Amino acid sequence: MIKIILLSFSTLLMSCSVKFSSEKNSTKTQKPQNIILMIGDGMGLSQVSATYYQQKSNLNLKKIKNIGLMTTHSSDKLVTDSAAGATSFACGIKTYNGAIGVDDNKKSVKTILEYFEDKNCVTGLVATSTITHATPASFVAHQNKRSMHEEIASDIANSETDLIIGGGLKYFTERKDKVNLLEKMNSRGFQNFTSLEDLQNSNSLKSIALLAKDATPRISEGRGDFLPLATEIALDKLSTNKNGFFLMVEGSQIDWGGHDNDQNYLISELVDFDKAIGIAIDFVDKNPETLLIVTADHETGGIAITGGNVEEGKVETIFASKHHTGALIPVYAYGRGSENFRGFYDNTDVFKKMYKLKFE
Ligand code: MG
Ligand code: ZN
Repeated sequence: MIKIILLSFSTLLMSCSVKFSSEKNSTKTQKPQNIILMIGDGMGLSQVSATYYQQKSNLNLKKIKNIGLMTTHSSDKLVTDSAAGATSFACGIKTYNGAIGVDDNKKSVKTILEYFEDKNCVTGLVATSTITHATPASFVAHQNKRSMHEEIASDIANSETDLIIGGGLKYFTERKDKVNLLEKMNSRGFQNFTSLEDLQNSNSLKSIALLAKDATPRISEGRGDFLPLATEIALDKLSTNKNGFFLMVEGSQIDWGGHDNDQNYLISELVDFDKAIGIAIDFVDKNPETLLIVTADHETGGIAITGGNVEEGKVETIFASKHHTGALIPVYAYGRGSENFRGFYDNTDVFKKMYKLKFE
């Protein structure tokens, strides 16, 4: 009799412990409803370090506690370009430098943005380059070469992406085929905006705002608060959807400062990108069902900090290259599911982690 009681008691204990551990697991694997992926093109650790000292340690990026490191090589080169790098984030595959949303066999691969669209979520792209540039393009277009801007623009115009903010108007309205893609998009229910103010004051979600023929101006040439404001507007609009959203925001020109070996160019662009990061962090604080990931596709310029003055916010640097380099790149994650981004992994794992957290 005592044996039976003991047995049933231990069974009860076991079932309790099973119950407790499954509860523990369910809080561990809480799913993000929304994912914000912010890519500082060419923003390696040295770029962040130089900006940290110049800004006297005032960086929003410092608020992010979950940090990992990743490898970024492409399928054909140790040093990636932005197309292969962004395709790894977008599709979870290694592909050749120059590939836009296609694999080594030039076959289209479904992107994270397209998976979100399939599940009745809404999506957006924000960049300070042309919206057809390699980084934003790889989330929504499928082309063999990054230089195919007009074909990429057609892919964007035909896509389900809800909100598009950046430069690159000429690829939509001054095309060899004479097609006006903005008019085509209007007929599909998109509204077209020529200022962020008008976009902000509108109620429409399906919107395109291409505010420069080519890339948007440099921050030093008067771009103002375009990127932080575009990020804020995008978050406002996309968060009206109850199924969740995916937003990609790119600080495109940090990379161009690196290619130019221009310390002031890259730091001013990174400071601007960090303001947009601050907007995204505030959004996650108010909407904790959101996951924010901040990373880069690669380092650019092989920048090294050789001296400076901490109190004065002065930084001395030298550049080892005019091109990209193969250094490990940090991944910063904040909000729901962010603990999954600690450790050492590959750029394709960024896609795999996002996909698993949202859809599995
Ligand atoms: Mg880019
Ligand atoms: Zn580059």
